[in-house]
Order: sequence, then structure tokens, then C-alpha cells
Amino acid sequence: MGFNSYTVQKGDTKDSIARKFGVPWVTIWYATPNSALRSTPGFVSVTEGGPVAPVGTVIWIPDRQELAPPKPPLKGSAAKPPLTMLSKSRNVNESLLIDPGSSRSPGEFELRIVPYIFMRPMEPEGAEGTADISWRKDVRYTKWNPQDFEDFKAKSKKRAEDFWNNRFRMWPPDGYHYFNWPAGKGGKPAAVVCTVVIKYVDNAGAASHVVRCYHRAQGEQTGSLDHLDWTDAILEEQSMDLRDKTGKTIPTKNVTLAHEVGHILGLDHPVCSGSERLCYGEGGEPWQIRNVMGAGDLVNKTNATPWLERLERHTGVPAAQWTVDTLDSFGNPLYL
Ligand SMILES: [Zn+2]
Repeated sequence: MGFNSYTVQKGDTKDSIARKFGVPWVTIWYATPNSALRSTPGFVSVTEGGPVAPVGTVIWIPDRQELAPPKPPLKGSAAKPPLTMLSKSRNVNESLLIDPGSSRSPGEFELRIVPYIFMRPMEPEGAEGTADISWRKDVRYTKWNPQDFEDFKAKSKKRAEDFWNNRFRMWPPDGYHYFNWPAGKGGKPAAVVCTVVIKYVDNAGAASHVVRCYHRAQGEQTGSLDHLDWTDAILEEQSMDLRDKTGKTIPTKNVTLAHEVGHILGLDHPVCSGSERLCYGEGGEPWQIRNVMGAGDLVNKTNATPWLERLERHTGVPAAQWTVDTLDSFGNPLYL
């Protein structure tokens, strides 16, 4: 399908533009201000039934119109076709919407969040030094052996991705036909599977997040760390037994790396933002304690928000209109 470009004039309506191009109606495509595809429209915004773009906007009219008018759009902004890529800006992770032809999950779309992380190896001046790391003062740490540091990076990436990948499947609301696959006639609604792929960059300027990495000195026991201060203890699971609202102790093992990467994706503790035990679920609901963003290793729908917010920005469909399934490790829905 080709496109004719046209600059919107004062007084234009969709009908007048349609007459000008000799087509029964127009589906108007125009590049959004930040679109990378200013000169090659393909996945930019469509106006349907609404006003035409502002005067002076360059729009593109497809030269081959569909035979029947497009389906009525959903209300509000919900009828936009997806933007395939949201590029990162400061402290915002990049995300990609990948069609079922190239996604990692056959037959399904893939929504991939890509944090750009610069792992900064923290080096003491001498062979050993001390630093305040998260809530602990004077943690003893040593220089990284370069190979150990590369191994640490690789293991961290793998563990975080293994934990978070394929945990959520999202279904669009009825009437949002842009996720029908194959595209066009005969396609069926396809779901979106959520993934994260950490991209390591080699300088702070290119990063959305800078993580200070410490190698604990021999004999240093602390597990203290936070989402931007990692020690090699991040590869270990941590136990924190909390009591729920009935006073029952809930034993947990927290997947520390998944928890901290959860923060990088924008997730918070289930109850509040601080590091008090209350925030992890103490005195609260058992699920809050067992959740990976509490003290445990489970996920539920509350952990889907980073992807839901992205999906809203990719499609214009409000987050509340998506149906979210939480999945087990075999891809079966858990209804959590
Ligand atoms: Zn935390």
C-alpha cells in the first residue's frame, strides 16, 4: 500500500480531504512528534471519526482504501493502532511491541521492556575498602576480578530474565482489532506476552539506570543492598519470616535479584514505599508477604503494572481495559 502526503489546510474536514483524493472516506495517518518514522508512515496515529490533524500537519492518505468502512472505534483514545516502539528517555526503559511473526512466543505478540543498565564496578582504593551500602554502614568490599565481574553481570541478567519472562499474558478489549493475527481478514485476536531483556551499556550516559556493584570482602556477611546498589549477595535468596494480619508466621524465600529488577521496572513494595517490615507485608495479607515485591517469590496481577502501563502507551487502550492472566512456568494461567 502506498501513501500520498498532504498538508492539512484551514477548513479541511475528513470528507473534503476524501473528495480531493477521490476516495469514499479517509483513514488518516500522521507521524506523532517523536515518531522515528516521520517520512515512512506505517504505525503512526490514525484518526477515526475525530477531527483531522491540526493545520500544517503532514498526513498520509493510503492510496488503496479498504472496501468497507473500518469498524467503529472504541471510545476515546482506545482506537489507536499500536506504536511498535517506545524509546527510552531519562530513567525510562525502552519497550518494544513485537508481532507474532517475530516474537519469542509463537502466535502471540510480545511486549518487551528493555532496561538500559550500566553496571559500575565499585573499586576500593587499596585491596580492600569499606562503603555504606543501602542500610548498612562500613561494608567491607574488594576489587572485582574482571572475569568475575563479567560472570556476575551474565548471571544477574539471566536470573532476572528467567524470573520475569512470560509471567503475564494480556488480552485486549473486544473491538480492538489491531491485535488480530494474521493482520486483516481472517485474523483472530492474539494476546500479548510480557518479557524483559536487560541491555547492558558501557557508560552512564547511555543508561536508564546505573547500578553500583560491590564485591564483598571475604568474611563479609551482609546481604544489604537495594535496587541501585548491588553486592554479589544479590544472587542469593533471602529469607525474612513475617507475620500476617492473623499473627501467623509466613516463611518466605525472596528472589532478591527479581525483587530489585522489579524496582528498576517501576514496581514498589506491596504495602508502602519504605524499607520497614510493614511495607513488605508484615501484619498484612499473606499474598503481600509471599509476593516477590514483598518477601517472597510469587507474582500476581499487581506485578503486571510496568507492562500494562507500556501497553497503554503503545496502544492508547487504557490499562484498566486489558485482561491480565498471570502465568505459571508452563504458561498456564494462574488467576492470581
Ligand atoms: Zn525493595
